[in-house]
Amino acid sequence: MSDYQNASAQQWQQWDRDHIWHPYSSALQRPDIFPVASASGVRLQLSDGRELIDGMSSWWSAIHGYNNPILNQAAKAQLDTMSHVMFGGLSHQPGASLGKRLVDITPEPLSRVFISDSGSVAVEVAIKMALQFWISQGSKQKSKLLALRNGYHGDTFATMAVCDPVTGMHHLFSEVLTQHFFAPSPTVDFKQQATDDDMADMQALLEAHHQFLAAVIVEPIVQGTGGMRFYSPDYLRRLRTLCDDYGVLLIHDEIATGFARTGEMFACDHAGISPDIMCVGKALTGGYMSLAATLCTEEIAVGICEGEAGVFMHGPTFMGNPLACSVANASIDLLLSQDWHSNMQRIQLGLSAGLSSAKEINAVKDVRCLGGIGVIELHKPVNMVSIQKRFVEAGIWIRPFGKLVYTMPPYIISDKDLASLCKSMIEVLHKEFDA
Ligand SMILES: *Cc1c(COP(=O)(O)O)cnc(C)c1O
Repeated sequence: MSDYQNASAQQWQQWDRDHIWHPYSSALQRPDIFPVASASGVRLQLSDGRELIDGMSSWWSAIHGYNNPILNQAAKAQLDTMSHVMFGGLSHQPGASLGKRLVDITPEPLSRVFISDSGSVAVEVAIKMALQFWISQGSKQKSKLLALRNGYHGDTFATMAVCDPVTGMHHLFSEVLTQHFFAPSPTVDFKQQATDDDMADMQALLEAHHQFLAAVIVEPIVQGTGGMRFYSPDYLRRLRTLCDDYGVLLIHDEIATGFARTGEMFACDHAGISPDIMCVGKALTGGYMSLAATLCTEEIAVGICEGEAGVFMHGPTFMGNPLACSVANASIDLLLSQDWHSNMQRIQLGLSAGLSSAKEINAVKDVRCLGGIGVIELHKPVNMVSIQKRFVEAGIWIRPFGKLVYTMPPYIISDKDLASLCKSMIEVLHKEFDA
């Protein structure tokens, strides 16, 4: 075996500091990283032997916990069959089964599935579907998108252009990003009905620009990375109607919200509506592999292909990767085999009970919970280096950003672990802000 594979902890951590980019990291400062030796259930084990209760599900994905025997088995069985073959001209059971399964669990009339490698690519594919649809229909002036402020849809160029124009990366890349339209983010609460007023800005933008709009793109119910904001299902219902009235397609980015995270299988199920195009990712494989998918209706699929190109113009090398698809099939099976609905209610109750006392901390602006998501919003951004260390010392893995300290634990978390996760979050906030 090579020295690289046998590297001591000290050695590989040095290599990490010298050579490796982490998400949004600097090459000038040593990133504050915590070495992980292994992970099992809801626990991450650090190289120094400490165990942390995981409050992040590795960014919404590890819904069944780590080292899950059923998902392990699916991966091992598929490895011995084939880990990958090209999807051009070839097909396989894991890919076809995943497509059928996604169509079965998402709302009608979504019926066509494009399997890709990551969330950002799934959103790129969704945007391309919308644009190619209108090109095929002879309406190529319909090339702009309408997105929400505080939205997040990925880090690649087409997706950056629909992220929040202020808190996203627009100002850095404004020369190269396509200019789209933005509506204010919805302020109508999850439990409230949307009024005409709540829809006024969206409606005015559609009225003014619909001839140039290919699609509206939103994260349904929960705006994730752009602010962890929850909004009303009624807003979504009304937006569906508006899109139909103005002849504009509707894209739902369910990459964070999909697979029961908000308490329904998909966030749009709270509203009982369906988009024309839907993106899923993150929890698709239970956090095992990088995989995502873009679904569309038969109308969109046929509409795209009756145009000049005759085909949908996309096809990544690792499209439909059988290894990832077989783990995704096992993960969806595992989710459907449980009473996931009651379980998400249990987690929501546990989060609400455990986090509500955070309101007593002066630095805290708001506490909100929905399904398996608990959010503590502060008045000011946290000091990442100091608070991150405190969370680890308290035995929990929480990764805040900006003013948001939030958790979305694996669905298998016990009541006891959930209570201690919340308790430790609050103790850390007291230490950080009450001193
Ligand atoms: C994470 C996320 C993405 C991007 O997915 P990646 O796999 O990180 O490329 C897109 N949209 C939403 C809503 C997300 O939460």
